[in-house]
Amino acid sequence: MNEVYISLGSNMGDKEEILRHAVQLLQQHKGIKVVKLSSIYETDPVGFLDQEVFLNMVILVHTSLSAQEILEVCQEVESELKRVRIIRWGPRTIDLDILLYNHDNIETEALIVPHARMHERAFVLVPLVEIAPELKFPLTEEALQTMLEQVGGEGVRLWKVVAGVSEFVHSES
Ligand code: ATP
Ligand code: MG
Ligand code: MG
Repeated sequence: MNEVYISLGSNMGDKEEILRHAVQLLQQHKGIKVVKLSSIYETDPVGFLDQEVFLNMVILVHTSLSAQEILEVCQEVESELKRVRIIRWGPRTIDLDILLYNHDNIETEALIVPHARMHERAFVLVPLVEIAPELKFPLTEEALQTMLEQVGGEGVRLWKVVAGVSEFVHSES
């Protein structure tokens, strides 16, 4: 069984419902069990600033799938939700990024794990530290908590506490 942390973000449409739908699609996959969810955070855009605020969360899944297979599932979920939701162009409905796959370092053309930019992103580190306060970063063995202190939590606000996996997946907002 493999432990995988995945970051989810949405800044278009009914963002909470999109996060919920993405988690549900992952949970429905027979090789994946969603075991932990962070709270939902509202976060200011980073990089391209002229767009809506995001809702972000991090989940822990247990899976029999390889990292490459998980990436493919994440991309299927992304395209499924885009197909349903996007009317024309605009910001992305959903982004699913693999943060950590066990304690592995992976570098292929399609996949870099740990995620190449996670160490500098408060919107990733805040929810990740919430559900995995003891975790160490694979490359450096640095505590994630220490990495978060270096970045600071600016622009990341607690938006909603999530009760549990089944409540989150099954309730309607
Ligand atoms: P960022 O990676 O900076 O968060 P993004 O999530 O907006 O940017 P995408 O368009 O979602 O970028 O992904 C671009 C490519 O990144 C994907 O096609 C995928 O192959 C690659 N990729 C590399 N490492 C990862 C990873 N750890 N998780 C998800 N995608 C990854
Ligand atoms: Mg991303
Ligand atoms: Mg991505």
